[in-house]
Amino acid sequence: MPVTSRQARAWIEAFAAAVAENKEYLTELDSAIGDADHGINMNRGMQAVTPKLATGAGSDVGALLKTVGMTLVSTVGGASGPLYGTLFLQMGSAAAGKAELTGADWAAALAAGIAGVQRRGKAEPGDKTMLDALGPALDALNAALGEGASLADALRRSASAAQDGMKATVPLVARKGRASYLGERSAGHQDPGATSSWLLLAAAADTFAA
Ligand code: ADP
Ligand code: MG
Repeated sequence: MPVTSRQARAWIEAFAAAVAENKEYLTELDSAIGDADHGINMNRGMQAVTPKLATGAGSDVGALLKTVGMTLVSTVGGASGPLYGTLFLQMGSAAAGKAELTGADWAAALAAGIAGVQRRGKAEPGDKTMLDALGPALDALNAALGEGASLADALRRSASAAQDGMKATVPLVARKGRASYLGERSAGHQDPGATSSWLLLAAAADTFAA
């Protein structure tokens, strides 16, 4: 079963709801190793995105994702605005003109989004960033699809790998973003951006499995 544009919209709405629900939590994580605004930043962006989902974009999943990306870039300051903006813009480019996404389409879009974040932020795996949730999620997705898993199962395994990746950021020393200013003192705290990225992929698994 492919991902339809209606489900893609529901995914973005579910992510916006998860960000709103976890706003304080994300901000608390960012207060330990950053400037206590990650929940506020992400929530501002996703609240700006939500009203745009009802209008524009029609049945083109790529156009929908580009709208999300452009809205995040224009409404969210800090590192996460341009980075999440790039993730969605690149996913949107990869999915351009498609009314639905197969598992392979979804994997290609996620790969393009991650490559965009990497180009933009210059972070490597293990630098204690959102990439430490997104990268393992893509690997698990590809492994699951390669084994012939259904898209719903592949998305669940992807979300679970994102959660493991998020938890694995705790002992890491941050090498990118504000948390890197703390050096060794950034160890012992979960990365806020990896946490919001887990929420994004968990929302996908929940939405597309339904
Ligand atoms: P800011 O750090 O500007 O206050 P946010 O608090 O909204 O922005 O987002 C912080 C998150 O952004 C971090 O937890 C990290 O996951 C992510 N991040 C920061 N810099 C980079 C980077 N260069 N590449 C990838 N992700 C990054
Ligand atoms: Mg911050």
